Amino acid sequence: MKFSVLTIFPHMFDSVLNESILKRAIGKKIIEVELVDIRNFSKDKTHRIDRPPVGGGAGLIMQCQPIHDALNATKSPNSHVVLLSPRGKMYNQEIAKQFKNVDHLIIICGHYEGIDERIYNYADEIISIGDYVLTGGEIAAMSIIDSVARLKEGVISTESLDNESFENDLLEYPQYAEPYDFKGDKIPQILYSGNHLAIQKYRLYQSLKLTKELRPDLFAKHKLTKGEKKLIDEYAKEKIPKFEAEAIKKGIKFIKNK
Ligand code: SAM
Repeated sequence: MKFSVLTIFPHMFDSVLNESILKRAIGKKIIEVELVDIRNFSKDKTHRIDRPPVGGGAGLIMQCQPIHDALNATKSPNSHVVLLSPRGKMYNQEIAKQFKNVDHLIIICGHYEGIDERIYNYADEIISIGDYVLTGGEIAAMSIIDSVARLKEGVISTESLDNESFENDLLEYPQYAEPYDFKGDKIPQILYSGNHLAIQKYRLYQSLKLTKELRPDLFAKHKLTKGEKKLIDEYAKEKIPKFEAEAIKKGIKFIKNK
C-alpha cells in the first residue's frame, strides 16, 4: 500500500517513519510512504505557498495552485484523496479498516490558518482526527498512517489485532506484565491459572465491564451474545464466579510460585 503525504513540512515525518513498527513495515515493503513537498510546486520565485486571507483576518492561507499541482503530480488511477481538516468526518477504527484496502492513499495536510476553500473540491473525503485544532495536518497524517499500517498483514501479529480495542465495539481487557506484586497491587490470580478458557471468559467480562463504564456509547452499539449475558449474570451474582474460582483452585501450583 502506498501513502502519499502532501505537506510543507516533510521532515516532520523523519523520526516517525524511521522507528519501530512503521520502519519495519516500510523495510518489508508492506507500505511505502511518499512525502510530497507542496513548496516544490510553487510558481512563486521564493517558493511561497501562502497568502493572507482575502477579506481580512488572522494568519495565512495555503493557496490553491501549489496544492492542486502537487496533487495532480501525485494522483494515480487507484488513489483516494483525503483532506485533513477539523471540519471532517471523525476518524476511527472503522475508517482505518476501510483505508487499509485502498491501494494509494493521498493525504493533504493543511497548515497555518488552513487551506483555500476551493481545494476541498479535489478531495474524495474530508477527515478530522478529533474535536481540537492542530497547528497542521502532519500529526493527523501520521496517526492515519500508523493506524492503517498496523492493520496490514505482516505488520503485527493477527492475534494482537483480534483482541484489540474497538474490535466488536469493545475496549480491550486490562493487561499485566511481571512483577506479580507491584506496591501491594497484585495481578489477578486467574491469569496464572493456566486455564485458557477461564482466562478468556474472565478477560471478556473485563472487556464488557470496562466498555460499559468508560465508553457507554460503544457498549450501546455492541450486541451482547447469549454467552456474554450469562457471563455478566455470573459476575453480578458473585465477585468471583464458580468457573473462575475453580480455575484458580486447579492452577494453584502456578499461583503459589508467586
Ligand atoms: N482555521 C482552521 C479552523 O479553524 O478550522 C484550522 C486550521 S489548522 C490550524 C491547520 C491545518 O491543520 C488544517 O488545515 C488541517 O489540515 C490540520 N488540522 C488541524 N486540526 C485538525 C484535526 N482535528 N484533524 C485533522 N486535521 C487537522
